[in-house]
Amino acid sequence: MMNHADIPSRRHFLCLLGTAASGLVLASCGSNPAQARNFPKALSNAEWRRKLTESEYYILRQAGTERPYSSPLDKEKRRGTYVCAGCGNHLFPSETKYSSGTGWPSFYRPLSEAILIDTDYKLGYPRAEVLCADCGGHLGHVFNDGPKPTGKRYCMNGAAMDFIAG
Ligand code: FE
Repeated sequence: MMNHADIPSRRHFLCLLGTAASGLVLASCGSNPAQARNFPKALSNAEWRRKLTESEYYILRQAGTERPYSSPLDKEKRRGTYVCAGCGNHLFPSETKYSSGTGWPSFYRPLSEAILIDTDYKLGYPRAEVLCADCGGHLGHVFNDGPKPTGKRYCMNGAAMDFIAG
């Protein structure tokens, strides 16, 4: 016979099982846990292949990195907004861009709720990976050697973004 006190604990147990199962799903996705989440502008792999250029796909969907100094956005100085090349999500206002000297477009602060941070072990140690909050696309990484006022350096791949002047 089941008494009422058992019900919450049983539920709690099932919830823990669910958490463990989703953890396994994330772990099995290895280098791209972003694909295990439900992003509002998610597309299938085939749809991304059709929509993106080769270099956009390599960076946004395969977490690749462009060669430093290869993107015209590294030297972009006009006023405007940097948006995700995958889904158009507005990421960084030009006011937060600065010259880091790294060869990658660098910013000190994203727009509110524009990005998500994940942990990436690709180089064998943890790095904070920057993802588009809307489509889950890989944009770059964030480091703690940026300028004031945040001290952050959002090190972005120019090919993962488009620039809208104005
Ligand atoms: Fe996006």
